[in-house]
Amino acid sequence: MKIAVIKEIYPGETRVALIPANVSKLTQAGLTIAVERGAGEAAGFDDERYVEAGAVIAADRTEALKDAEVVLTHHGRGDELDALLPHLTRGQTLVAMMDPLAGPQAAQKLADAGINGVALELVPRITRAQAMDVLSSNATIAGYKAALLGATHSHQLFPMMMTAAGTLKPARVFIMGVGVAGLQACATAKRLGAVVEAYDIRPAAREQILSVGARPVELNIEAEDTETSGGYAKEQSAEFIAKQQQAMADVLAQQDVVITTAAIPGRKAPVLITEAQLMQMKPGAVIIDLAAETGGNCELTEAGQTVIHHGVTIIGPKNFAATVPNHASQMFGTNLTNLLMLMAKEGKINWDFEDEIIRDVTVSKDGEVVNPRLRELLG
Ligand code: NAD
Repeated sequence: MKIAVIKEIYPGETRVALIPANVSKLTQAGLTIAVERGAGEAAGFDDERYVEAGAVIAADRTEALKDAEVVLTHHGRGDELDALLPHLTRGQTLVAMMDPLAGPQAAQKLADAGINGVALELVPRITRAQAMDVLSSNATIAGYKAALLGATHSHQLFPMMMTAAGTLKPARVFIMGVGVAGLQACATAKRLGAVVEAYDIRPAAREQILSVGARPVELNIEAEDTETSGGYAKEQSAEFIAKQQQAMADVLAQQDVVITTAAIPGRKAPVLITEAQLMQMKPGAVIIDLAAETGGNCELTEAGQTVIHHGVTIIGPKNFAATVPNHASQMFGTNLTNLLMLMAKEGKINWDFEDEIIRDVTVSKDGEVVNPRLRELLG
């Protein structure tokens, strides 16, 4: 079974879908890997290392895709999917991030073209699938980098320092939304010496906040029904969000850096910081909004931009994991390798829908959108 790794199409993308160590593992399992020339270069993996690991280097995208059963890339939706589709042939399987709940049209396009689609965001949150969970990998990187970006843009140093020029108070960092990214941001800001506080609607987050040495912020409002059966946050009512914004204003006014990560799969991110709250914040404060790509947790965030309003710097990173291409590719490639080892049997993809992981990630198969959630969204 031939697997193609193409050079990423997304503008400015630095990552690659498999690294040489993944190639070794997959070739030992009997798979053939074709890597488009230069695909790993920006992530620090040159063609020679892929060859040493057992891959074949393809001169261009067409050669990489020829006779491939499976195609791997990071971005499988929007303009990138439109650019890739004419190069794919019926019966091929595309494995990529597709943002299927926000944009189920990608699954329909794949079905119409006779391409089998595997959307990596749909890996279920079960223990067996943890090693295949690219969302967690990307969130780990984003949380870490958010703390560093906050430290870089802050007008203050993070740690307390006793110097000959006097004592410097530690910076105060507040994390809103403590899933994988938020917890990593807490831990990183703590390691840098800041005083770290955090808040999440899920009661279970409290213990995790304490476990990395941060302080949970308690609001006297209770969210109901905070978690879906799939382990994701549930969308809260407009009334709850309004109460939350009000209760949060005092906490925000004391912070030097705020990192927001609150996300609801397939929905616009909840607004946790309004312009009115922002006006109460300290001049020179910094907001890193990790929900920028899904609408932003701050009302004034602009995705992919750094803007300053009322003296507060608001940064809305896009495609953030690509700022750490080497480790991000290692994590993504390892997640994909684990998924492929599950799905490949006797030189073919084994579409065993009795397996919860395979069933959940498959969005299109044999010309049909097969995922029930997406069928419902598509109407
Ligand atoms: P996420 O990216 O979906 O959302 C980020 C966080 O924002 C969540 O913790 C959520 O509760 C929070 N949030 C949503 N609305 C909010 C609001 N109005 N105010 C404040 N916070 C709000 O989260 P995630 O990183 O996917 O993690 C969610 C949970 O799932 C975590 O406990 C994580 O450890 C767990 N998880 C489990 C697995 C697995 O078992 N395989 C994999 C990944 C994550």
